[in-house]
Amino acid sequence: MHLCPTFLLLLLRWVRLHLWVRRWRCSNGNNSRLPTCAQRRWAYLRVMVRSLYYNSLTSSDVIMDSLMEPIFWVVDVLTRWFGPVFVCLVVVLTSSILLIAYVGLLPMVLSTYSPPWIAWHIGYGHWNLVMIIFHYYKAIRTAPGYPPKVKNEVPFVSVCKKCIIPKPARTHHCGICNACVLKMDHHCPWLNNCVGHFNHRYFFCFCLFLTLGCAYCSISGRNLFLDAYSAIESTYQTPPPTYTFRDKMFHKSIIYMWVLTSTVAVALGGLTIWHAVLISRGETSIERHINNKETERNATRGKVYKNPFNYGRLNNWKVFLGVEKRSHWLTRVLLPSGHAPYGNGLTWDIYPIRKDMMPV
Ligand SMILES: [Zn+2]
Ligand SMILES: [Zn+2]
Repeated sequence: MHLCPTFLLLLLRWVRLHLWVRRWRCSNGNNSRLPTCAQRRWAYLRVMVRSLYYNSLTSSDVIMDSLMEPIFWVVDVLTRWFGPVFVCLVVVLTSSILLIAYVGLLPMVLSTYSPPWIAWHIGYGHWNLVMIIFHYYKAIRTAPGYPPKVKNEVPFVSVCKKCIIPKPARTHHCGICNACVLKMDHHCPWLNNCVGHFNHRYFFCFCLFLTLGCAYCSISGRNLFLDAYSAIESTYQTPPPTYTFRDKMFHKSIIYMWVLTSTVAVALGGLTIWHAVLISRGETSIERHINNKETERNATRGKVYKNPFNYGRLNNWKVFLGVEKRSHWLTRVLLPSGHAPYGNGLTWDIYPIRKDMMPV
């Protein structure tokens, strides 16, 4: 919008110059050279026009980013629109597994298993279920944290080109949320929310406990799956075995449950391990790319890059989980806990700090 008056002015000047050149050529013949003053004005006009789009930082990366911008925009819009659909999908798939577990498996466990195995399945299964539901709900409902939009004294490292506000350290802009997010990790479509400073722990714990829950279903249901699979295969024999409708539904449900939980356990397990590695290094998914580039850039100069937010492996976990004393490993890690994360997400302790920042 600011360019409109400038552009109109340039257009008028260009039209006036063009008319003047045409008049001059008509009176002197087309092959005549322009006088020096006209050449100067023409060159001046060209410089003015080029100054509108000149950028000293232009490189192949910038050009590629500009060309890819429409694709990013489409992906952002689709992710924003399909966010609620992904959340519904998680709820529906999890509910379907719970339905099979309570209607199909629990009566069988209670009637055929020994008391210790019944206690284990009921105890572990419900603890795992509570941890999944709690962390998923909190990850969705907790805002990731946003930098202040009014003037403040918080130190910042850059200014967001889209929000036009100062960005504190570790803050990044999310194109889907259209906002700057404190210690942004990534935008998660399965949560329909950004993963940032205030909900990073909930996101990771949800991934961890869902992986554990799926692995538990997959391992403990393996024999049931094999039985159900051979029962379905045997229906192609002649004569086919006589299964009731209830038996057939049970076999299909077991196969559905085993395939789904095994697939999620492997796929989400990989993601969880990757995030665990990042947390151990004291970096987010975005910072991983930044730190890799910085490491390469420093290596070309013969220097070693040190991540300023890496406080040591154990300290990184204590900071991430909010473990400030020994009992917190139980009350804040193994039980549902809504405690706030360490720090305000605006300012960060920079390495080196005192050796054991949260002695436990
Ligand atoms: Zn922003
Ligand atoms: Zn986002």
